[in-house]
Amino acid sequence: MTFGQITDPVATEVWEPVPRVVSSPSDKFVPSDAIVLFDGKDLSAWKSADTDTLASWTTDGDAMTVKPRTGSIETKQSFGSIQLHIEWRAPEKVLKEGQLRGNSGVFLQKRYEVQVLDSYNNTTYPNGQAGAIYKQYIPLVNACRAPGEWQSYDIVFMAPEFNADGILVRPGYLTVFHNGVLIQNHVEVRGTTEYIGLPKNIAHGDAPIMLQDHGDLVSYRNIWVREL
Ligand code: MG
Repeated sequence: MTFGQITDPVATEVWEPVPRVVSSPSDKFVPSDAIVLFDGKDLSAWKSADTDTLASWTTDGDAMTVKPRTGSIETKQSFGSIQLHIEWRAPEKVLKEGQLRGNSGVFLQKRYEVQVLDSYNNTTYPNGQAGAIYKQYIPLVNACRAPGEWQSYDIVFMAPEFNADGILVRPGYLTVFHNGVLIQNHVEVRGTTEYIGLPKNIAHGDAPIMLQDHGDLVSYRNIWVREL
């Protein structure tokens, strides 16, 4: 059987579906279909990650800052696959080195950490530096700005899928831009990002985004998410 050659350009035009319009204002760049999780005003989209209490990190009208030892915070809303924009800043004053310097973290679904760390002239294990998928993937480059400067992560997270028996049937994937520079290119999430031991794959559904209290005065601002 042979296929006839297509000679008409119209034959390969696809007219449906038409992408819906999403505007992205140039003055503040928050897409019109984004869910704003923090715009400087308050922590109403967040709660304590460990208890059923309010998030107690400090806010100053622009940014929120870790209040050390009050615990990590998480979104009240749960998410599956998302595009996430988040800006962060490590303390300008450098007191310690390695993992104790501007450490925090953005956890997708409370399980998969994109490391936040002041990795500007700061030596640590590379699979634990800024932009690492913690202990799974070293970032492609070090795009870190100096401590005290605002930085951004733009993350595309495709959530893992588990079947009704709890078996992983499609792994998660992460793509990360750090200050606009690609540092993780569609890497396959191996499971939970553990401090000690190997990744785990225990079935779960949608879950919050969590920001880590690692005891350092890391700040965040301008956080928005688009569900995919
Ligand atoms: Mg961390």
